[in-house]
Amino acid sequence: MDTARRQRYLHLLGIETWALRGTGKVTAAAPSVEEPEPPAAIREPMPRKPRPAVPPPAAAAPAAAAPREVPADWSGLRATVKDCQACKLCATRTQTVFGVGSETSPLMVVGEGPGADEDAQGEPFVGRAGKLLDEMLKAIGRSRRQAAPEQAVFIANVVKCRPPGNRDPEADEVEACRPYLDRQIELVKPKLIVALGRVAAQRLLATDAPLSRLRGPLHRYGPTQTPVFVTYHPAYLLRSPREKAKSWEDLKRIHRHLAEPA
Ligand code: URA
Ligand code: SF4
Repeated sequence: MDTARRQRYLHLLGIETWALRGTGKVTAAAPSVEEPEPPAAIREPMPRKPRPAVPPPAAAAPAAAAPREVPADWSGLRATVKDCQACKLCATRTQTVFGVGSETSPLMVVGEGPGADEDAQGEPFVGRAGKLLDEMLKAIGRSRRQAAPEQAVFIANVVKCRPPGNRDPEADEVEACRPYLDRQIELVKPKLIVALGRVAAQRLLATDAPLSRLRGPLHRYGPTQTPVFVTYHPAYLLRSPREKAKSWEDLKRIHRHLAEPA
C-alpha cells in the first residue's frame, strides 16, 4: 500500500486530526476498546421508523414468491430485475438498482439496499456514503469505472429496490431478491465478497450475530463458498469517526487477500 494513498485515505476520514488532538500520536488513532453496534439505519438521510419487535404475521405469508426464472446471462438478468415484482418493494421504488462495475471483478461489494439517491439515479452508492465508499475503494486502487481485474469492483445490494423511508430490508424481501444476488455472484465469480455493515452482513450470511463478531473472521457464501469479509458501512463511518482506523485495517486486509495467489 503506498504511503500517499494511505495518507489520503486517513486524511479524508479525518483520522490524523482526530489522533493528533486525542493523543499526539498519529498511530494512536486506532482501536476504541468497545465496538458499539452500529445503528440499524445506515442509509441517508431519513430517520428510521420504529418497528414492532415481532413482525406482524402478514409480513411472512403473502410474499412466498413462486419460483422464478432467473436468467443466467447478464442481459437477461438485467431485464428480469428491471421489471421484477417478486416482493412488496416493487410498489414503492422509482426504479430497480441492479448494480454497477466490472462484471468480471475479483472484488464484489454488497450493501444493504438503495437509498433515496440510488432510487432516483438507478445506481448503488451514489449518495454521501457512496462518495466515501468510492474513496475507500480508491485507497486500495479500485474504482467502479475500471475494468482491469486489479482495479475493478462490482457493487450491488442485498435488495435491488429501495425500502420505503430507508427502513431495513425485511427478511422476506431479501429472500425474494436473493436469487438475483446469487446469480450476480455466479456470473462475476469474485475472489472476495465484502459485506458492508450489519444489515447486509446478517442478511447475506443468514445470521443474527452482531457486527462486532461478524467483522473479524473470513466467512463463506453460497455453493462456491466464496470468501466474505464484513466491514463497516460507509454511512456508519461518516457518523462514527472512532471506527475509521479500523476500517482502514479492514481495507488493507481486503487488499492483501485480493493480492494473494488464487
Ligand atoms: N446504502 C447501501 O447499503 N446501498 C446503497 O446502494 C446506498 C446506500
Ligand atoms: Fe424484485 Fe428484489 Fe425489487 Fe423485491 S427488491 S421487487 S425481489 S428486485
